[in-house]
Amino acid sequence: MKSIAKELWFNTKNDREFINITPEVESALLESGIKEGLCLVNAMHITASVFINDDESGLHQDFDRWLEKLAPHEPVSSYRHNRGEENADAHMKRQIMGREVVVAVTGGKLHFGPWEQIFYGEFDGRRRKRVLVKIIGE
Ligand code: ZN
Repeated sequence: MKSIAKELWFNTKNDREFINITPEVESALLESGIKEGLCLVNAMHITASVFINDDESGLHQDFDRWLEKLAPHEPVSSYRHNRGEENADAHMKRQIMGREVVVAVTGGKLHFGPWEQIFYGEFDGRRRKRVLVKIIGE
């Protein structure tokens, strides 16, 4: 069995951003030479997510607005966690959007359903953070 582990680094300009990381995951798969197997992609920080959805226009703004309704950043003092920190909302947004995705590898390609793309969701940005890509197979 072959395996590859890669860390992708991010340092977003804004506190909250969504980034399509499908090309980076595809290049890790190409580099691995694996044709049949599984690909795990996970955020390595508890205030960021990795998820699969469409890259359709408007959708990311809609996600952001929805997450702000569920776990608004302000007022910062409304969270018990925010004593010394101000990122309680980011922990909750990460929890909703998930930690990781697993994609099947078939014929050397990510075996997506229609329109599926892999995204990094940042909820407490403007600092260096990582995503792990682990691919195993033959
Ligand atoms: Zn925190």
